[in-house]
Amino acid sequence: MAYVITDTCTKDELCIDACPVNCIHPTKDEPDFESVPQLYIHPTECIDCGACVPVCPTTSIFVLEELPEADAHFAEINAAYYN
Ligand code: SF4
Ligand code: SF4
Repeated sequence: MAYVITDTCTKDELCIDACPVNCIHPTKDEPDFESVPQLYIHPTECIDCGACVPVCPTTSIFVLEELPEADAHFAEINAAYYN
């Protein structure tokens, strides 16, 4: 498990543009982009580079170890998107 997106995400895709390994989905050309409430980081494809964090205007991305207690469940929510 690596970085995690929480529900303050506005799907503006800025993190997608910043991610060097394309592990944030769905992108807007994927069929479920409109229906998902937020974007999700793949738990094993993420390389922990941190490049997505400073570009997020809503501070929605956290490294797992620094997830706020109230947002702890988003680790599983991000992983579940890829199951
Ligand atoms: S940069 Fe932040 S608000 Fe924008 S899509 Fe990524 S997580 Fe969501
Ligand atoms: S930490 Fe790096 S690899 Fe992981 S989602 Fe963010 S930009 Fe992508």
